[in-house]
Amino acid sequence: MIGWPLGPGEGIPVERRTFRNDGEARKGRVKESMKKPTLGVLALQGAVREHLQMVERCGARGIPVKYPPELHLCQGLIIPGGESTTMGRLMTTYGFLEEIRSLVAGGMPIYGTCAGMIMMAQRLVEGDQPLLGLMDITVRRNAYGRQVDSFETDILIREIREPERPFRAVFIRAPWIESVGPGVKVLGEFEGRAVLAVQGHMLVSAFHPELTGDDRIHRYFLRLVEERVAG
Ligand code: GLN
Repeated sequence: MIGWPLGPGEGIPVERRTFRNDGEARKGRVKESMKKPTLGVLALQGAVREHLQMVERCGARGIPVKYPPELHLCQGLIIPGGESTTMGRLMTTYGFLEEIRSLVAGGMPIYGTCAGMIMMAQRLVEGDQPLLGLMDITVRRNAYGRQVDSFETDILIREIREPERPFRAVFIRAPWIESVGPGVKVLGEFEGRAVLAVQGHMLVSAFHPELTGDDRIHRYFLRLVEERVAG
């Protein structure tokens, strides 16, 4: 993978370098397109489009990922919400589990929302289903009960921009984080339960920030990607 940011002319395919004298506009465009990291959104199931829109709004390029080879076009990956048992089954069938595990082991940042967070957990309180098993967290599925299917609430989140401004969190048949290992930092809680956490280049939220107009968590994730890309 090429490093970023690059020095002048570096990383530009040779045929493009001949355009260097073509004027500032073209130069700007080439540079701009190189600067934009590409974030993939796993597109097997669930809230894909909303994440893609959020990614674009944060100034990155968003692509839906339907097949494992497309992962190699991405500098970061988002696993959306949906239904984790279905997602796990599809990921097994399409051969995503191993591929994602090895890319994340190699340092690719990953962010899981809701069912995506369940997929990223190493342990579930109950149930046996295919997981990516990446993050040192134990997760309880459907933790808020089936009666209260979904709700919205304001929570405070550490380490994002303007942390004193509440974040509107949308919970939909949401899990919570029951316990975390020593390498995991909790960034947000609701009623004493961890609902947003980070471990190195891995981020999870129990709620759906792509459904609100607030892009601060996506921007936080984009920073993880940019730090990684910059080396
Ligand atoms: N309840 C779902 C599951 O267990 C998650 C819901 C969601 O992603 N909004 O997989």
